[in-house]
Amino acid sequence: MSDKVHQGHRARKRFGQNFLNDPYVIDEIVSAINPLSGENLVEIGPGLGALTEPVTEQVDHLNVVELDRDLAARLRSHPFMGRKLTVYEADAMAFDFAELAKKGPLRIFGNLPYNVSTPLMFHLFSFADHVQDMHFMLQKEVVKRLAAGPGTKAYGRLTVMAQYYCKVVPVLEVPPSAFKPSPKVDSAVVRLVPHQTLPHPVTNLSWLERVCREGFNQRRKTIRNGFKSLVDVDTLTALGIDPSLRPENMTLAQFSSLANWLDANHSS
Ligand code: SAM
Repeated sequence: MSDKVHQGHRARKRFGQNFLNDPYVIDEIVSAINPLSGENLVEIGPGLGALTEPVTEQVDHLNVVELDRDLAARLRSHPFMGRKLTVYEADAMAFDFAELAKKGPLRIFGNLPYNVSTPLMFHLFSFADHVQDMHFMLQKEVVKRLAAGPGTKAYGRLTVMAQYYCKVVPVLEVPPSAFKPSPKVDSAVVRLVPHQTLPHPVTNLSWLERVCREGFNQRRKTIRNGFKSLVDVDTLTALGIDPSLRPENMTLAQFSSLANWLDANHSS
């Protein structure tokens, strides 16, 4: 049978469908999540239920958000899982997770569609206040970026924004052979735990987003040149930022202090 047909369902590339098919890997992920009854669990992209089934075996209730209409219908009518699931047939990127959080802090997990995983994580960061933790299968490269430290190639806008909101813990690496159809890239599972108190809070998030965007869009420039239109060398030095380094050398604390200085001293 074609690699693209799994459990009678033809995988849809546009929905990033690569279904987990390795019992050992599935077991490892469910152990890492450690779902318990009474928790407010949410799965993004349950698909054919590779993670959904073992999780529902351990808990009374699970919310799932699935964009594919056929898969959502399959889950609703599933003989064993169906009654434990609340199925939201919706786009997770436009989903209001705060609505679900009225019942308590969210524990979100999923083998995310790789084509939208970065914007989806940015969407989820905006609900960080409502989230206890998140476990995601992602491209290994994305997990490296989430967990990177300053001065490395993987360090970038996603790193700074993720670490602004969350503690990042890589959990497990997963080869393409664990999926059907197999993706072209290696994968990895990451745990993201929102900080209860932000370690480096900013007064205006849009300044943090802007300095990240501008800094990482021109990685080869020095900090002095990259931020020339926004801030002078003396101010950078006073903020403890070496103007001769590159933006990729700046720590989250330095990005935040630059954003806060700009918020206090700039009009736009
Ligand atoms: N959890 C299943 C597994 O591990 O086998 C499926 C994972 S598959 C990589 C991604 C799943 O996310 C698919 O079921 C796909 O239909 C769903 N999906 C894709 N885009 C989505 C979106 N924007 N919102 C919600 N679900 C989406």
